[in-house]
Amino acid sequence: MADENVLLDSEMAELPDRVWAALESRYGKPLERVLNATGILLHTNLGRAPLPRAVARRLPVLLNAYCDLEFDLGSGKRVDRNYRAARLLEAISGAPAALVVNNNAAAMVLVLSVLAIGREVVVSRGELVEIGGSFRIPELLEATGCRLVEVGTTNRTGLADYEKAIGPDTALLLKVFPSNYRQAGYVASVSPAELVALGQSRGVPLLVDEGSGLLQAREQPQLREHPSFESLLGQGCDLVCGSADKLLGGPQAGLLVGDSGLVERCRHHPLYRALRPDRTALAALEGVLRMHLAGDPLPLDRMWPEEAEHRKRLEAVASRLGAAVVPADAFLGGGSAPDQPVPGQALALPDIPELAAALRTGAPPVVGYSRKGRFLLDLRTVEAQDDQALVAAVLAAFQKLGLEIPG
Ligand SMILES: *Cc1c(COP(=O)(O)O)cnc(C)c1O
Repeated sequence: MADENVLLDSEMAELPDRVWAALESRYGKPLERVLNATGILLHTNLGRAPLPRAVARRLPVLLNAYCDLEFDLGSGKRVDRNYRAARLLEAISGAPAALVVNNNAAAMVLVLSVLAIGREVVVSRGELVEIGGSFRIPELLEATGCRLVEVGTTNRTGLADYEKAIGPDTALLLKVFPSNYRQAGYVASVSPAELVALGQSRGVPLLVDEGSGLLQAREQPQLREHPSFESLLGQGCDLVCGSADKLLGGPQAGLLVGDSGLVERCRHHPLYRALRPDRTALAALEGVLRMHLAGDPLPLDRMWPEEAEHRKRLEAVASRLGAAVVPADAFLGGGSAPDQPVPGQALALPDIPELAAALRTGAPPVVGYSRKGRFLLDLRTVEAQDDQALVAAVLAAFQKLGLEIPG
């Protein structure tokens, strides 16, 4: 694979510089590898989860060739492109069936289209959230052609509210984990288990939008209260959906797991064709799911590094840059646990106004953040293998600005 990259680079190098300059001035630069030193693991503007290196390394051989995407090499027969990822998802989450689509929004659109077009979907008013960008739960429901039935109030919704709302036209109960905000104080909501019992007694299925793609529970304090696919399915939820590029650490994809009959109906709906993932996403997702199954460390684990080792790493980089090591909070990001910092340390540089811009436009670009008169670089979101490149980029930025190395 390294060979192929060299070939590509040399081919590119043959294009005269002025051709590249003209292309860039007209169309902008191509996507670039960025060092994320913000301490925000899932930074949507920086592409959310970085794929594990072991997974990314395998991708190029699949991309510039044919592959057995929908072809069983043993029998020579056509197979569903989803089956590998689906089996892995089922094994990890305990789901009876699974399906992968382009993103979590697509998973929701598919379920709503299959179960609830022209019919009623019951949602708590406390869960009619905006996830970011233009993704708002009520607008998604409307755009899909479902009738939204709001129950409860912004801060309190009880089981009786759902009971009263269910009628002959109710197609679905929807529970959304509003991962990007938290309510405190005089609040009440109905647990998935209670909604399962209600739904079963009234013959209405329950879809839970878990959001982050946390397949199995985690014991870190920031995630302890976050429901996992496994626990939600264990409580009897009919369907659970989430993103693959958040806490799971995979590519952009939507994960839908649950009842075999319902998942099959989604797979056979005409819209599935419009929402199905491409082979790049599937290859990456399968790789990440295999690592998950094998218990290998995933990008999420970088947020809780081994302390002594991380300290050594910080000090090594700090000494090259004349930086201080100061307490700093990191965040999971991607709308996950927004009020739950991961305490630790970061490198502190003087907060010179031009420094952030020089770093962003350097090679490789480095993104850090200003806090209380200092410019911080958090190494928890930088792979240790990139430390040298980070040091070189910061030194180059100092030089560009004519700055002495501080310290
Ligand atoms: C992120 C998120 C979504 C949207 O997921 P995409 O994969 O970006 O489409 C929907 N619901 C919840 C609760 C989320 O956290």
